[in-house]
Amino acid sequence: MPESDRYSRQERFAPLGPDGQRKLGEARVVIVGCGALGTYHAAALARAGVGFLRIVDRDYVELNNLQRQWLYEETDAVEGLPKAVAAARHLARVNSGISVEPVVADLTAANADELLGGVDLLLDGTDNFETRYLVNEYAVRERIPWIYGGAVGSYGIAMPVLPGETACLVCVYPDPPSGVQPTCETAGVLATATTVIGALQVTMAMQILSGHRESVPRRITTIDLWTGVLRQVAQPARDPECVVCGRGIFEQLLGGKRAPISLCGRNAVQIHERNRPVDLPALGRALAPLGAVRANEFALRFFIAPYEMTVFPDGRAIIKGTQDTGVARSLYARYVGA
Ligand SMILES: [Zn+2]
Repeated sequence: MPESDRYSRQERFAPLGPDGQRKLGEARVVIVGCGALGTYHAAALARAGVGFLRIVDRDYVELNNLQRQWLYEETDAVEGLPKAVAAARHLARVNSGISVEPVVADLTAANADELLGGVDLLLDGTDNFETRYLVNEYAVRERIPWIYGGAVGSYGIAMPVLPGETACLVCVYPDPPSGVQPTCETAGVLATATTVIGALQVTMAMQILSGHRESVPRRITTIDLWTGVLRQVAQPARDPECVVCGRGIFEQLLGGKRAPISLCGRNAVQIHERNRPVDLPALGRALAPLGAVRANEFALRFFIAPYEMTVFPDGRAIIKGTQDTGVARSLYARYVGA
């Protein structure tokens, strides 16, 4: 089959055409978070022929991801592969004509320029407002469009942010949601909900990247797949007093080192304030007498009941089995080093 046939069905869709397809081929996108939303974004954009995808994710594949995270397979969970790496491997088999850059890292103020820079659009595949506010600030400051999306249970929401044109995330949500929020762990999540939201986000991305920015619906879309109710409200106008897009104050981007955090909806804590490389083979040799160690070139996993510690080459670690940041910090100091 000639390669020129690859995108023929997409090119025959009149609003895109060969010109839109060419623009997609030249486009560069960052996918922030490669879970249920991000795997959909990555697979759909790779198949659509978007020329460059940078996939940023801090986590590794687990068995309970497979129900909704389309790109991953059982072997990825068994190997404990970082999601960004597993995603890039699968995408290479989907479309060898595009470039995929996996980045195993936690997006922070310190690495935002490096991880989010040099692209035409950012896609939100994260599961937390802290990261979304950081993405929003970066996008507004650099005038890069980004597409907000989230899903839990059977419910999802999506909204475009076109800096200089539409409201930004902070115009709409000046503060993160308060009180106890449902998470994918407490409330569960249907793959159909994440997929519909991912599809809305990717369609908006394709409109922007193919030169049809004016077609992007300036709406907030919510959908409940279980009740079948879809609602759309007009995106509010930009708030001239908005701290971020009105007054240009980028607090998240100026943020310093963050404390360890309990990971959203998981019995786990991430230690990420260390920023020094760890020699994983050497660490593996040191830990082997103390407990089971499994390692590959991307991460080392150490089992010390009832905990499980995954250490990445940049010194970051995810400690499963506790939500107590003090316990996690102490385990890290004991086994990896203070
Ligand atoms: Zn704003």
